[in-house]
Amino acid sequence: MRRATRLTHLGRPAYTEGRRPVNQPVVRASTVEYDCVDTMRRARARRDEGHRAFTYGLRGTPTTFALEDVITDLEGGFATKLFPSGLAAISSLLLTFLRPGEHVLVVDTVYEPTRRLLDQYLAERGIEHTFYSPRDNDLGRLVRDNTRLIYTETPGSVTMELQDLSRVVAVAREHGGIRVACDNTWSSGYCFRPLEHGADLSIIAGTKYLGGHSDLMLGSVTATEATYGAIHDATTTLGLSVSSDDCALALRGARTLHIRYPAHQKSAVRVARWLETRSEVQAVHYPALESSPDHALWQAQFEGAAGLFTVEFVTGSEDRVERFVDALRLFAIGSSWGGFESLVLPCDVRAARCVDDWSARGALVRFHIGLEDPEDLIEDLDAALSSVA
Ligand SMILES: *Cc1c(COP(=O)(O)O)cnc(C)c1O
Repeated sequence: MRRATRLTHLGRPAYTEGRRPVNQPVVRASTVEYDCVDTMRRARARRDEGHRAFTYGLRGTPTTFALEDVITDLEGGFATKLFPSGLAAISSLLLTFLRPGEHVLVVDTVYEPTRRLLDQYLAERGIEHTFYSPRDNDLGRLVRDNTRLIYTETPGSVTMELQDLSRVVAVAREHGGIRVACDNTWSSGYCFRPLEHGADLSIIAGTKYLGGHSDLMLGSVTATEATYGAIHDATTTLGLSVSSDDCALALRGARTLHIRYPAHQKSAVRVARWLETRSEVQAVHYPALESSPDHALWQAQFEGAAGLFTVEFVTGSEDRVERFVDALRLFAIGSSWGGFESLVLPCDVRAARCVDDWSARGALVRFHIGLEDPEDLIEDLDAALSSVA
């Protein structure tokens, strides 16, 4: 079956007595009650053998299991665990696969809170890291004896550089004993699947396109058979549980992912192309544009693009850029993205980036293109640019 069909039919409830509701019921549970001790023993034994069994709310419910199955299918993995947020998925993964005294290579374009986690919380606990440039084609020289993980994003946050994940995986394989994890939120499993390129673990912030309506927090880690056990155990050991209500919302979102995602892309390409022609704009960082240095790699490895890109304005226009953002009427100012509504966010990577130098670059403004008519969005952008000219 093709993806659109699978997204429609996966994760649905089983028939009982020949009938079923269309959607997975929202199973709200802490305690699961057993009719006798033997039933409980058998359920727990199955669970302890690694099978999925509904034994306690923390360990998942039929609703959360259904969402895991849909994400596993999108990501092309062995199995998926859910987390209360994208960042909780990231922190749990890093805590699971890194011990004190071990080292992780991290792409310099990493999501800002992931950088904070590494620079502060994990560094204080003896977990070392080195940032590398997404343009670095010689990663092997940064690998140390204690390197256990390479942590990537493609494209990177804000500046949107892609990386050839197959090459990153090749470096890990060459050295042995190094896992590769990829934050796949931009693609949300729709247009890129890290595990197909040899990565061991893929993360999605379901908060974004999977939910798709800016009304929930959710994260996932999809793993290979070899890495799944550890990430599965981490959720129960660390006590991370996700509400079935949120999973039901994310399941609802997932049913239309294949309709929404390309619609975001289509409008985003239209708006990005228009922005590119403006004299106020230095560059639009978006791999779907022919002008992107990553366009060829994007064409080779991706089947689509998110509605998320970043505009770099000409240098020296910082004051005007802030007034331009304030003058927009259809773009709300806000972080996160992936909902039906357009968003705008001034970004500053100058202090954070420690490998590639962004200090002399123009002001950056990130856009998420929602499901509005793109011609209205362009008129809004045009009016705001004119008002600060
Ligand atoms: C938003 C985001 C996250 C974190 O997701 P939350 O659910 O907000 O914690 C992680 N990675 C990337 C690339 C993101 O954009």
